[in-house]
Amino acid sequence: MNNKLYGNLIFELSKPGRRAYSLPRTGFRHYDVPADERRATDAALPECDEMTVARHYTNHSGNNFGVLNGFYPLGSCTMKYNPPINEEIAAMPAFTQLHPMQPDTTVQGAMEAEWELRHDLAAITGMADFTLNPCAGAHGELTGLMIIRAYHEDRDDTARRKVIVPDSAHGTNPASAAVCGLEVVEVKSTADGRVDVEDLKPLLGPDVAAMMMTNPNTLGLFEHDIPKIAQLVHGCGALLYYDGANLNPLLGICRPGDMGFDVMHVNLHKTFSTPHGGGGPGSGPVGVRKGLEKYLPYPRVEREGNAFIMNRGHDAASSSPTAHEIHVGAFTGNFAILLRALAYIRTLGKEYIKQVGPLATLNANYVKESLKDDFVLPIAGPCKHEFVFNGLKDNPTDVTTLDVAKRLLDYGYHAPTIYFPLLFHEAMMIEPTENESLETLDEFIGVMRKIAKEAKENPDAVKSAPHNTPITRVDDVFAARHPVLTYAQSVANPQKD
Ligand SMILES: *Cc1c(COP(=O)(O)O)cnc(C)c1O
Repeated sequence: MNNKLYGNLIFELSKPGRRAYSLPRTGFRHYDVPADERRATDAALPECDEMTVARHYTNHSGNNFGVLNGFYPLGSCTMKYNPPINEEIAAMPAFTQLHPMQPDTTVQGAMEAEWELRHDLAAITGMADFTLNPCAGAHGELTGLMIIRAYHEDRDDTARRKVIVPDSAHGTNPASAAVCGLEVVEVKSTADGRVDVEDLKPLLGPDVAAMMMTNPNTLGLFEHDIPKIAQLVHGCGALLYYDGANLNPLLGICRPGDMGFDVMHVNLHKTFSTPHGGGGPGSGPVGVRKGLEKYLPYPRVEREGNAFIMNRGHDAASSSPTAHEIHVGAFTGNFAILLRALAYIRTLGKEYIKQVGPLATLNANYVKESLKDDFVLPIAGPCKHEFVFNGLKDNPTDVTTLDVAKRLLDYGYHAPTIYFPLLFHEAMMIEPTENESLETLDEFIGVMRKIAKEAKENPDAVKSAPHNTPITRVDDVFAARHPVLTYAQSVANPQKD
């Protein structure tokens, strides 16, 4: 923020008595708050004039970086273009003015939209049916594992407490298993970055509930042993869970259901577009193969003839829940994101959705091959929608992946995902997505090569980057260890600059 007058915190701009907006004098009834419910002192709220408020927030919003500002190659997160038509549809008053407790007969259109999305997702993934209720990928993982647990318990197969997770997995996989009360067992990767089938075999047995997999995995590599793995996992009586965060490159090409997966989630905000970042918003519908539909959570939209009804589970009958009845949220999910996903799927249609995967794959391979002389490519060969470098190749000045990521900000790019997956010390995970033009990719490749050159010739410029952003490097370790989560008036105006 270069304009101090409108920068920092709104509290620091406060002047006693300033007002941005006054309520009309008429039209409100006076109500005396009982004395014992009143605050002893006034709340320390900021008092600012309207221009100050408007400029303060407008200037802050300019510090954001989104896919509409520039190239955003954040691997695993699939930061793809979000077509405005999705926003227009999600913002239609016919949808935004609904209340989730309205009678079913007055929300038939909204229920039909959910029904249609569920069936589109089932067709795209090869699953029998979906629940739209989970509100993030991680929430979907938890829901999926609850379904798997219910399936085993329903068969009195209660000794199954282990969940096998590859060492390349996203951190949410073991976290979800732990939250579900299950025990995490790690399976190793081979030197070519895929699940080691020989390491997997001895882990399988009557105590295994499920194996979780991401395919293509977090290195962007297709797990070509999947038929064998599915056979082994099913052979021991366990179920196979698909982490759908990397569904993007498979769109229209192949389906998790056909690979042998039993339960899966889709990150709608990744594969099916929705502006996300900074923790939200998300949506993680969960699909199941035929035979597992009865474990899907409530509430559920059901169809009776031409009408849709909301089955709320035991709440509806106000009886006790049936065995293994799952509830993961009050209503049927993050509705505005569901609408965006449906709009995205329907605007592309059957024909064009098939081009998403191949284009994402082509773009990732183009960037990877163009940069592999400057950056270490730990696993050679074709990737899917993303790939991982392990730091700079020829690196006498010890410039790190963090330095490269920070320097990219100076050139107007969002950084790729760094230090994930944990398999490589200097991991840098790049996902261009299908939307980018050849010119954009070439420009990014040029900048990455330039940074590689700077690392040798002028390493300080890279190590002290970024230079053009509102703040330079933050001490993120200190911030994590000593988080300051409240704002104390007494330490206001710590103006450092
Ligand atoms: C993003 C991601 C998740 C978690 O999804 P959220 O929607 O962020 O909860 C899980 N696995 C992988 C591989 C991911 O990239």
